[in-house]
Amino acid sequence: MLKAVRGTRDLLPPDTDLWNRVESKVRDIFARYNYHEIRTPVFEDTSLFSRSVGEETDIVSKEMFTWDDRARAQSEKAQSLTLRPENTAGVVRAYIEHGLYKTGTLQKLYYIGPQFRRERPQKGRYRQFYQIGAEIIGPPSAGSESPARDAELLEMLATLLDELGLGGWQLQLNSVGCADDRARYNQALREALKPVVHQMCVDCQRRAETNPLRVLDCKVPEDQPIIEKLPKISAYLDEPCREHFAAVRGMLDAIGVPYTINERMVRGLDYYTRTTFEFTHGGLGAQSAVLGGGRYDGLSESLDGPKAPGIGFAIGEDRLILALQSEGSQSHETVQAYIAPLGAGMNVHALKLAHELRRAGVSADFGDENFRLKKSFELAEKAGAKYIVIVGENEVAADTFALKNLGNGEQVQVPRAQLVEHLRR
Ligand code: ATP
Ligand code: MG
Repeated sequence: MLKAVRGTRDLLPPDTDLWNRVESKVRDIFARYNYHEIRTPVFEDTSLFSRSVGEETDIVSKEMFTWDDRARAQSEKAQSLTLRPENTAGVVRAYIEHGLYKTGTLQKLYYIGPQFRRERPQKGRYRQFYQIGAEIIGPPSAGSESPARDAELLEMLATLLDELGLGGWQLQLNSVGCADDRARYNQALREALKPVVHQMCVDCQRRAETNPLRVLDCKVPEDQPIIEKLPKISAYLDEPCREHFAAVRGMLDAIGVPYTINERMVRGLDYYTRTTFEFTHGGLGAQSAVLGGGRYDGLSESLDGPKAPGIGFAIGEDRLILALQSEGSQSHETVQAYIAPLGAGMNVHALKLAHELRRAGVSADFGDENFRLKKSFELAEKAGAKYIVIVGENEVAADTFALKNLGNGEQVQVPRAQLVEHLRR
């Protein structure tokens, strides 16, 4: 039997009803905050990711699906291509390519779509997964560096999770400073790691050389006491970064968004600067991050674009769904009316009735004239229908139908012309 590839999965009803409820709430809220959708390609030039996410990150060094795409015509060049492991790089590439900065205004962009990483599949970790993300990016003159943007973005996330009915989330907040701060902090980490790194895992031994900041991401239990004693990034922030972070915190306090400072949270992508954050949820087990994000003030320049500070996040939609389900959320869209044709020649009448109801905006489904009344009731209940409409010879002749409310068992005779009005109630 052919099966879905390892790390990929089919999303089936009724789960997809919950996915759709989440996505429509997301679109509704993002519109309320004046975001507009952007859709970028699912694959890009490999160098887009190595130059933005960073060569030394787990994503680029071992998780990307990359292939050499042969030239098929004289006019084409051979090229290394990669399935996108994340979407911020693609958004910023598009921002530069289409000169969105020329408007001089802030761009508030959002996306919903699949991302791909070759990771070890487990609960909440897949090779094809879905992200819902948003970015605020623009020239500094449009206020893109303002801490108010950070606070606005975080407040929107809190509102989104609250309106989805997700309780029990926690906002973990940190600042990783600017490139200079990070260089000094990396240097300090290198020094501090020198005498202890031989006791750490092999990954940390490598990271200590190539990208010491990544040591803080280590999940190996034996390494944790060593990591706890390493220098803290807050001591290495310069004055402007310190003030920026204080302003973000002050605004979150003012609007009442709760957060916890987590100095170890440095995020797994190299482009982050200043504010970084994750929202975690207890119902997720080891993969506790529902979403992550941060500022990326130098990203555009690293892709040969103009200065365009920005901040964004990506929600792991798979994990958001798991978190909602762990709190008992479910969505099962049901039809309003189930139409039951009884006896020979009634299918066409049932179909016509379904047509009229659907055109009038009432959701409806219908059975087959070969089904007995008992079976029709069973099918109607399986479909979760609120009403069953019986279509027999007598009903058709009288143009009046028996309508039964499956919730309370009430049955009434309703003339065709009043059916829609009745079913809308
Ligand atoms: P993690 O530490 O869990 O690997 P990450 O830091 O690699 O997460 P980001 O690149 O920040 O993740 O992506 C943002 C969000 O996307 C994560 O918080 C998570 O919810 C989700 N996510 C990341 N990788 C996967 C995956 N392989 N499967 C499902 N969701 C994922
Ligand atoms: Mg990861």
